[in-house]
Amino acid sequence: MSVLVYTESENNTYKKVAFEAVSYAKGIAEMLGTLVTAVAVNGGDSSQLGKYGADKVLEVSNEAYNKFNAETYASIVAEAAKQESANVVVLTSSANSKFMAPLVAVNLEAGYVANVTELPESTSPFKVTHSVFTNKAFASTEIKTDVKIIGLAKNAYGLKENQAAAAAETYTPNISENNGVEVVSVDKATDKVTIADAEIVVSGGRGLKGPENWGMIEELAETLGAATACSKPVSDMGWRPHSEHVGQTGKPVASNLYIAIGISGAIQHLAGINASKVKVVINTDEEAPFFKAADYGIVGDAFEFVPQLNEKLKAF
Ligand code: FAD
Repeated sequence: MSVLVYTESENNTYKKVAFEAVSYAKGIAEMLGTLVTAVAVNGGDSSQLGKYGADKVLEVSNEAYNKFNAETYASIVAEAAKQESANVVVLTSSANSKFMAPLVAVNLEAGYVANVTELPESTSPFKVTHSVFTNKAFASTEIKTDVKIIGLAKNAYGLKENQAAAAAETYTPNISENNGVEVVSVDKATDKVTIADAEIVVSGGRGLKGPENWGMIEELAETLGAATACSKPVSDMGWRPHSEHVGQTGKPVASNLYIAIGISGAIQHLAGINASKVKVVINTDEEAPFFKAADYGIVGDAFEFVPQLNEKLKAF
């Protein structure tokens, strides 16, 4: 019996979601009185996983797996789960994890719940809380299968350090190299920090009047190491690329800080960003609905406030 956790990485560097997933896996392992095994495909330094609670790391090292292929990665995770007799498998809620989770579930005949926000309410019966309807509500679901798969929601559990030293093992999964799907190339839309990975998101709305005014938004994002985003009308009008559109019909945001500039706070916009931890709004209209959803609000003109903010932050 063990808890298996899949640890996402890019260019041999673990992503923050990997450490969150290991922290969470450790929490479940403590509830069950068992150990955490991490599986890392072309990952980074395994001691980093130990820091967050991995007792063992199965290191898969193979250039053929450099490009993410859901079928292959799902087979690796499922084989590792079988080898370790894992009864809980922890994935994240990243696009890649969501892509492969159903494949892992079918392989292991396991129940899968996505967007889990907390440690299980109980382990017998095994009940988890997860967000539904784009974070507007929470549901409690019992997973009844022998093996349980959890997709941990981003930023929900946080990082919890442990003092464990992970034992690293080379792992060569016994999987078919030919699963009928080959990823030929991956074209990244941008080299900038993506909305999904960003700790901070700076977002602009129709209040910014036109695409020529986005310089101050990009400057603020660059200073803060943030991703840029926008409301739907802004991308519909072609002021910004569609990849930046956030909300109910756009990308979901679960950053630590979301700064909304010249965005009114329509329900469809808020639906996509309310998983963010701290929300700040800058708007000239103190009656704008965003102020009710925000943690901090500045009633003011973005064209006056944002350049001053940029100046102060740079001097910081
Ligand atoms: P506006 O509503 O026009 O607001 C602009 C704001 O800027 C105003 O509050 C104004 O006071 C402020 N402002 C003006 N000048 C300044 C200034 N100088 N400084 C500071 N503030 C200023 N929208 C999304 O964003 N994402 C979605 O996914 C989405 N999905 C939708 C799905 C459906 C089915 C429908 C019907 C709508 C959807 N919408 C979505 C649209 C949504 O209803 C709103 O129309 C949209 O979010 C408004 O965008 P906005 O806040 O940028 O513009």
